[in-house]
Amino acid sequence: MAPATVVDGKTLAAAIKEKIKAAAAEAGASPTLAVVLARGQEAAAAYTRSLARAGEGVGVRVVVHELGPEPRAAARVIAELNAAADVNGVILQKPFAGREADAELADKISGAKDVDGQTSASLGLLWAGRPAFVPSTAAAAIYILESHGVDFVGAEAVVVGRSLVVGKPVAALLVARNATVTICHTRTRDLAAACRRADVLVVAAGSAGLVKGDMIKAGAAVIDCGFNYAEDGSVVGDVAFDEAKAVASLLSPPRGGVGPVTTALLLVNVAWAAGVHVPL
Ligand code: NAP
Repeated sequence: MAPATVVDGKTLAAAIKEKIKAAAAEAGASPTLAVVLARGQEAAAAYTRSLARAGEGVGVRVVVHELGPEPRAAARVIAELNAAADVNGVILQKPFAGREADAELADKISGAKDVDGQTSASLGLLWAGRPAFVPSTAAAAIYILESHGVDFVGAEAVVVGRSLVVGKPVAALLVARNATVTICHTRTRDLAAACRRADVLVVAAGSAGLVKGDMIKAGAAVIDCGFNYAEDGSVVGDVAFDEAKAVASLLSPPRGGVGPVTTALLLVNVAWAAGVHVPL
């Protein structure tokens, strides 16, 4: 069997970003994203910097509000951003003040500005099949699969992970496309057996090399959202890449796969929130 096609997320993202740039220029708009970030969260700060660089290249302004991890102050800032006419999208970078507090804070983002689909309301709308902003990593997984012509109708789709940012929204998007979806998590009895059924396998567990080659059905389309650091500092996914490449038909790499598409689709949502139509 031929090795899997390896997803080139950078090229997909570049094409999306070109569309944002053209649409924003044509509309004469400067879509603006406000990012609320806890001081001292280095990984979140680095992601925010890369988001700002990507935004700069396409005419999307990214304004960072770096705060102490005090939920009441953050809630006040989010309320101000919800009301600000020159802010189109708001995201809360997590972790901010702890799991419970973060969920409550994210829910304070107004639906019209919830460009990363972080609120319970947006997730509910997504499951209900109503218009809503979709968390961008989940949207990226589906965008990549659709870009490669993967057929979802009647397909066995397995999602490993049930987080609000990836697993659950990916599952909702797959069901909406008429796949038969299984969601796996740490209490799943036989993860390998579940994965082996998958025509479409989306993995978002945050566990390096969790899915081995012998857990993948021949010819499956495999999207690896995992981003983990190995002991030598290299980035590894949740899927054992070389093993999976020999079995799957499509495979996203841990770097240059889902990540760049995630950023590009978040910027699309900011443009949409600003009334700039980006055709995808
Ligand atoms: P998360 O909130 O920690 O959720 C992980 C999920 O995976 C949980 O539902 C957990 O199950 C499940 N899980 C963990 N270990 C498992 C195992 N051994 N067997 C079965 N299920 C297991 O993580 P997340 O935020 O969804 O992120 C997942 C991965 O995607 C991380 O590596 C993260 O860095 C990456 N990510 C990448 C991007 C990007 O833009 N590239 C964006 C977001 C996330 P329980 O619910 O039972 O605990």
